[in-house]
Amino acid sequence: MEFPICAQHNEEFGYFCEKCDEPTCKVCIFTLHKGHNMSDLSETVAKKKKELSSTWEVYLRKLEGARKSVDNMENSLHTYRKKVYNTIKEIESEGEKLRNIIDKTVSDMAKELREKEAEEMKRVTQVINGLKSQLERGIQLERHINKALKLKDDTSMLISLKKFQEDMASYIPEVILPCEFSYLKGNAGSAHVHSMLGRIFFENDKSGRETPLEAKDDFNRNARKYELWACPLCNTERYIDRMDESERSFKTPRCCYGFMQSRGIAYK
Ligand SMILES: [Zn+2]
Ligand SMILES: [Zn+2]
Ligand SMILES: [Zn+2]
Repeated sequence: MEFPICAQHNEEFGYFCEKCDEPTCKVCIFTLHKGHNMSDLSETVAKKKKELSSTWEVYLRKLEGARKSVDNMENSLHTYRKKVYNTIKEIESEGEKLRNIIDKTVSDMAKELREKEAEEMKRVTQVINGLKSQLERGIQLERHINKALKLKDDTSMLISLKKFQEDMASYIPEVILPCEFSYLKGNAGSAHVHSMLGRIFFENDKSGRETPLEAKDDFNRNARKYELWACPLCNTERYIDRMDESERSFKTPRCCYGFMQSRGIAYK
């Protein structure tokens, strides 16, 4: 295997220029890199190898953090989707309840009208029938009067005439009409239906609509199972379970636990 050499001076690299961050040959030191800070190349490589392994450890801890974040975000998404599914079921069941109430109210109102109708039919028909029988009696009376007027006996005639007078005077015709009613329509619109069925509020609502405190409580209670957290030691950001106090505690940041222990570093 051939080693890379300085193309300008045809010499092996033996030094490392700190300022230019590149290997140099023994001639370069006094020409291109004159006056720059120089280190021994093999020492520099050893130092850089050590740096890499430490960076690699930090990187691994970041990966571990990312893996936990993915787990927690996936859990959140799962919980979220379950909540959407359950909420739709709940809205549908509220809708069903409302439809039943509306159907029942419609049939109750129809029933109320029909009962009143039957009552009025009975009341008015009774009067109509009474009038009809009076008409019958009138025809009969006319016949009786015509017959009485042909009587020869004055006394009998007088009695009959008096009776006819009484009969006609006692008749008082009665006229009634069915009880009036009025149906005043309601003015139900979608706002009324919403007030019965409820509304959905989104935490990131941009419409400027006021979010009720109850909904805000709901956001905090349900949606915030996980929160973004930065490890005070490695500064890795990830989502942690809100309830997990140990994650938040500076004494046992899980991402750094093994790392600190392996180095014998005491926790604060
Ligand atoms: Zn050179
Ligand atoms: Zn240099
Ligand atoms: Zn950490």
